[in-house]
Amino acid sequence: MPHKTCATRAGLGWIGKSALLVTREYGPAARLSSVLTDARFDCIAEPINTSGCGSCTACTRACPGRAIQGALWDVGTPREKLVDAKACRRTARALAMERIGEKITLCGKCIEVCPYTRAYLEKENLL
Ligand code: SF4
Ligand code: SF4
Repeated sequence: MPHKTCATRAGLGWIGKSALLVTREYGPAARLSSVLTDARFDCIAEPINTSGCGSCTACTRACPGRAIQGALWDVGTPREKLVDAKACRRTARALAMERIGEKITLCGKCIEVCPYTRAYLEKENLL
């Protein structure tokens, strides 16, 4: 059960052009956990079924691996239509090796440039 699916069903955000969950408050700079339970809760939020990215192309333009296709998500959009996961991984591994000499997958440019991330960082005086 993908956390991102839980999050869109819970009304926390939409899936961005980067294939990351984008929240209005933090952009894609959020870590998710999910709890599956049969406990009864009142649902207070509406599921989000369409993208809020609009005409923004910040992550598409910034991606060093050209992995982001630029497509708008809605419910049912397969990840492959949004991002070339192999190109992302290949690029992120090459960058990590080049910059810090580690065999890990590390990039995050698409998180950094998202205007929602930047608005949050600005609001918190973190830029
Ligand atoms: S993590 Fe880096 S390479 Fe992967 S999609 Fe984001 S910007 Fe592109
Ligand atoms: S950078 Fe723009 S297009 Fe990419 S996820 Fe954020 S709002 Fe959407």
